[in-house]
Amino acid sequence: MQFRFNGLLQQEGWLEPAYVLVDQDGIISAISEKPFEGHGIEAVNGFALPGFQNAHSHAFQFAMAGEAEIHPAGISDDFWTWREAMYRCALSVDPDQAEAIAAMLYAEMLRHGYTHVAEFHYLHHNNDGIPYPNSAEMGFRMVRAAKTAGIGITLIPVFYQTGNFGVPPESGQRRFINHTVDAYLQLFQASKQALSLYDKSYLAWSIHSLRAARPESILELFEQMPTNLPFHIHAAEQLKEVSASVAHSGLRPVQWLLEHLPINRNFFIVHATHLDDVELKGLATSGATVVLCPGTEGNLGDGIFRMKDYVREGGQWCIGTDSHISLNPMAEFRMIDYRQRLVSHRRNTFDGDAAQYMVNTAYRQGKAAMGIQHSNHFAPGQPLDAVVYDADAPLIATRNSNNRLSTLLYTSDASGISGTMVSGKWIVKNNKHISCDTIREKFLNALADLK
Ligand code: ZN
Repeated sequence: MQFRFNGLLQQEGWLEPAYVLVDQDGIISAISEKPFEGHGIEAVNGFALPGFQNAHSHAFQFAMAGEAEIHPAGISDDFWTWREAMYRCALSVDPDQAEAIAAMLYAEMLRHGYTHVAEFHYLHHNNDGIPYPNSAEMGFRMVRAAKTAGIGITLIPVFYQTGNFGVPPESGQRRFINHTVDAYLQLFQASKQALSLYDKSYLAWSIHSLRAARPESILELFEQMPTNLPFHIHAAEQLKEVSASVAHSGLRPVQWLLEHLPINRNFFIVHATHLDDVELKGLATSGATVVLCPGTEGNLGDGIFRMKDYVREGGQWCIGTDSHISLNPMAEFRMIDYRQRLVSHRRNTFDGDAAQYMVNTAYRQGKAAMGIQHSNHFAPGQPLDAVVYDADAPLIATRNSNNRLSTLLYTSDASGISGTMVSGKWIVKNNKHISCDTIREKFLNALADLK
């Protein structure tokens, strides 16, 4: 079986037209500008990009996206008051509801062109804070939801121990907490079993943040955990978190990470919004990747990541949708660029073709965040995971290979996507997920029960 696309985006640019030969499992066997003899052709009137990698998700938060946006006069609302609403949401969902919410979210991600998600998963226990008989029950539900939707998933069980720097957990955090390193190690082993549910599932590990774990526990985990898995952690999202870190240890969060942990290419630092010059240079040259979540960071008023400075120092990054207030990867890229333009009063955030640079970097580092090896956007031996943009969309129909990707990145929305495929199978076609009716019904029922 082969597909013919008007164009296929590789790291070095467009191949057009492009014929992609796949085996019965949807693994690419060969790519060419000419058709392969003796194989049927499905002609696709569109331009294929590699499926986007969503490197940071808290699925249950999708249930409240857009609900915390009414701000009564005279009452201050910030990250910390939003977090109270988020905790109420976290305390209310049961495993069935969490699975239904995640399946809907993942179907929506696919509709926007994401084909793999890293689920940063800390909603572990029941509503009383007691582990389920299977301590990884909720993680299993995330993997099942991903399978239902047809998205690849990297499950990231999160170690969450304390309420703040040196402060015991509060009641609202009871579903997240593992009091000891041993309890986390047990959870991690149990989470591994979830991978048997779905052939597109992977495992990484995480500590929620420096404020959510004791330093001695963090160091002990680094002795116990496998060193070949991606490690994810939130850091320096909020100024209050930076000042609390300094008060507690004398060090800013990223400074603490740089001085205490063996930072390398397997480190994925989520947000890293507030960096001083030393931290910025240290992080950019450490091999770590920063996971930017521009929609959520803007929604929560976190601050502006120093992208221009970071990239100039050679820093690596990828994207995630975090609270899922926005789900369009192109909009995330635009926000990354525009926040720099707004503060610099310059249009050239990145040298050269900004769209190509952003898509290439976010894809390459996003794959690494998932723990998946790859050699190009599309290559023999890799599954055919693609998002296809309609070749007849008015602007796209008039563009050439020099400006097609930038037109997509700076002007498109999900309506320009004619389909998303995972392992050579259409999961979304004409803006509709193939199982959207059943996934949507379960989601609506779950939300009705929650209300
Ligand atoms: Zn997060």
